Amino acid sequence: MHAQRLAPLVGKPPGQLLIHEIYRSIQGESTFAGLPCVFVRLAVCDSRCVWCDTPHAFTQGTARTLDDIIGQVLDFRTPLVEITGGEPLVQPESLPLMARLADAGLTVLLETSGAHAVRPVDRRVHIIMDLKCPDSGECANNRWENLADLKPTDQIKFVIASETDFRWAEQVIRGHDLERRFVVLVSPVFGAVTPRQLAEWLLASGLQVRLQLQLHKFIWDPEARGV
Ligand code: SF4
Repeated sequence: MHAQRLAPLVGKPPGQLLIHEIYRSIQGESTFAGLPCVFVRLAVCDSRCVWCDTPHAFTQGTARTLDDIIGQVLDFRTPLVEITGGEPLVQPESLPLMARLADAGLTVLLETSGAHAVRPVDRRVHIIMDLKCPDSGECANNRWENLADLKPTDQIKFVIASETDFRWAEQVIRGHDLERRFVVLVSPVFGAVTPRQLAEWLLASGLQVRLQLQLHKFIWDPEARGV
């Protein structure tokens, strides 16, 4: 792990989570896209994807107890919650947070970079895991062992910034039989690959995976935070 990138966690009280923001919006990605959803955005990430759209979460956060976080989530009276970041799995307290939200009857989603072990995640949680493509700059940190620990209902996302990325994703999907094993999503980097271009590559490939657009960027200001 990159000690400097994790430095904001130094001094955080044990048992608490460094939270960047909690808000309610429309889920913009995955097969849950379009549904109202509460987002719990954790601070800090040990990756640095070239196209990251949440760098503001790298260092800014407030330490909060699980009771406090869960109370705020439940106040929204919304049955869907996503734990995102940053990278939630760099803070081990995210594991009991997800379990307790599932205990409370919520459908819980986890967005993770794919660089950390997903095995300890509660089996009730729907994991949406990235496999980082070459142009992200983080491809070397993909944790391939995770493929053996995901459930058939979990989702694997490839964020595509170029044709090189798409060809890499195609090879990985076929090489690991991902189409058959999981829900697979391919998503264009906003402003780098047009939806039409990705659609054409996908149709020509013959892959039967899902093209997704970041719905929230079409609804709100693409540069806005907390949407
Ligand atoms: S893993 Fe996510 S939060 Fe971390 S740098 Fe990449 S896109 Fe940003």
